[in-house]
Amino acid sequence: MISLDELPLRDDLRGLTPYGAPQAPLPVALNVNENTHPVPDEVASDVLDEIAVALRDINRYPDREFTALREGFAAYLGHGLTAGQIWAGNGSNEVLQHILQAFAGPGRTVFGFAPTYSMYPLLTQGTGAHWIAGSRDDDYEISADDAAAQVAAADPDVVLLCTPNNPTGTPLSLEVIEAVYEAARGIVVVDEAYHEFAPRDSASALTLLEGRPRLAISRTMSKAFAFAGARVGYLAADPTFIDALRLVRLPYHLSALTQAAAVAALRNASTMLAMVDEIVEQRDRISATLEALGYAPHESWSNFVLFGGVDDPQFTWQALYDRGVLVRDVGIPGHLRVTAGTETETTAFLEALASIGSPS
Ligand SMILES: *Cc1c(COP(=O)(O)O)cnc(C)c1O
Repeated sequence: MISLDELPLRDDLRGLTPYGAPQAPLPVALNVNENTHPVPDEVASDVLDEIAVALRDINRYPDREFTALREGFAAYLGHGLTAGQIWAGNGSNEVLQHILQAFAGPGRTVFGFAPTYSMYPLLTQGTGAHWIAGSRDDDYEISADDAAAQVAAADPDVVLLCTPNNPTGTPLSLEVIEAVYEAARGIVVVDEAYHEFAPRDSASALTLLEGRPRLAISRTMSKAFAFAGARVGYLAADPTFIDALRLVRLPYHLSALTQAAAVAALRNASTMLAMVDEIVEQRDRISATLEALGYAPHESWSNFVLFGGVDDPQFTWQALYDRGVLVRDVGIPGHLRVTAGTETETTAFLEALASIGSPS
């Protein structure tokens, strides 16, 4: 086998490492923030029926505008949104990629407050743009003034704001998002992948869309919706913003089977989301127990907990692995991240961690 260096790879891709959260077949997998509850049987059978119908026309290309699905997302999101303000892709990663292909690219810059979602720099580099990492305070929070000042100084073409933030769980207030929008010349994306796990009364950035044509709010069916394997993400923005994404998407990028599955899942949204409260309960149990064990969990509005006080994250990660529990080492010194699973999985994690011994 030849090495990658021997291929005429783009210079700006040389030396990069691909996204690679381990996919190990362990009994308790709590490393990539999936909803670990399976899709309920009645929903699975509705999804199957819809796919069966789509299969009859599978010799034809699908609806390029995925109209029924966009209508479904508009209805699900509420806030008076219409299908013309909705876009979707094979996971919100593809939606983010569409945004960067349209608004970033060679010679341009993309900004985010680190530590944040590890895919942002990779997606940025993939379009040939340059990633600029801003900073957060000690508890991973950012004030509106500080956020605006950092964005004004960096003057990026695209700002990616993640709330609640992955991997820290930290929410951003609407005040921060408004301040960033005012300070930015370019596009501002609010990634609300974990919004459904935030407190019920917390406002979505969707409430800021009106009158802000450079703003987009992205969501995914991969987390709360328990639909990660189907690969469906979406966003809401001004219809003109959506037109820009049509310039870069591949023709018929959402397969007829994906559209059918997502339409049926959305129709069952309340059943699909029924486990969210239970997951939030397990998340809070994780935080409380970690604290009792002497670790330092960070406040989380998502379905995972980042915790500090881990002397040797690599050692603890391996010790948990050896006990059949997969968590994530996100590369923050002294920290590990764990997804809230079912009650049984969560118990398995907490017992495994306790058996390793508390931090000094
Ligand atoms: C998991 C996650 C997504 C979702 O990615 P998909 O491609 O929709 O599976 C998006 N943003 C963040 C911050 C995430 O953690």
